Amino acid sequence: MSSESKFRPKMLGIICNWCCYGGADLCGVSRFQYPTYIRLIRVMCSGRVDMKHILFAFLNGADGIFVGGCHINDCHYNPEGNYDALSMYNFCKKLLEHVGINPKRLRLEWVSAGEGIRFANIMNEFSREIEELGPLGRIEGLDENELKTRLKNIIKLVPYFKLVKMKELAIHNPDEEVYKKLYTSEDIDRLIKEAPSYYIDPKRCQACMTCARRCPASAIISEKNKIHIIDQDKCIRCGTCYDACPPKFGAVTKIVGAPVPPPIPDDQRTIIRKTG
Ligand code: SF4
Ligand code: SF4
Repeated sequence: MSSESKFRPKMLGIICNWCCYGGADLCGVSRFQYPTYIRLIRVMCSGRVDMKHILFAFLNGADGIFVGGCHINDCHYNPEGNYDALSMYNFCKKLLEHVGINPKRLRLEWVSAGEGIRFANIMNEFSREIEELGPLGRIEGLDENELKTRLKNIIKLVPYFKLVKMKELAIHNPDEEVYKKLYTSEDIDRLIKEAPSYYIDPKRCQACMTCARRCPASAIISEKNKIHIIDQDKCIRCGTCYDACPPKFGAVTKIVGAPVPPPIPDDQRTIIRKTG
């Protein structure tokens, strides 16, 4: 037996409760076979599957990820979540391309509760494809550390992508081709290049706490009479603090295409106010 044929991929299937899980169940009771290394997670709707779920699964070593939902216009919720899944999936494929991961490692299909044999066929076909691609990173020519660094960096940008692409991600169109054309590689490259970071200038901050109160991500380390600091790992790049900081202070700066200065040390954060 060749070493290639011994490869057992780590594969994840995230499938909706109402249709695809029913199909998987029927597949099981009908004794249709598919590889046991595919682990299934049931969610109430394919629309619940987030870009972060996909990217974190790859970060944690998945070689292939399957997302399964109800056929278009059969979603059990209103508005239909499978359109959201379709949009997320097409966007995510482009992100994978940008990271350097073969987008074939992510697959989305619609499976009804009566399609047990179809579920088995898809699982068998997809697992064969992933076996051929080999372990994550090998065909891509990326070592584990490089791959993880790239994935971590892109995961940090997911909230920003969702904010900037809110309208496109919410499009519901019965023509699936529309979603494939919605996000281009150039679009994704530009988005990443233009991603802003926000920084509080310690020389200007007056610890008025306005920004911290308005930050939707609790990303501002805030204390009375202490210069505020943005936690870059928590920041979702919404720009609220930039808009909220009173013009007379103008302490929040927007940075594009350059590194964010390191935060001021804690023992230098106290603001001594003049009295009298
Ligand atoms: S950009 Fe948004 S998330 Fe980031 S610190 Fe400012 S308000 Fe918070
Ligand atoms: S709003 Fe501006 S001055 Fe006030 S705490 Fe935030 S950064 Fe500092």
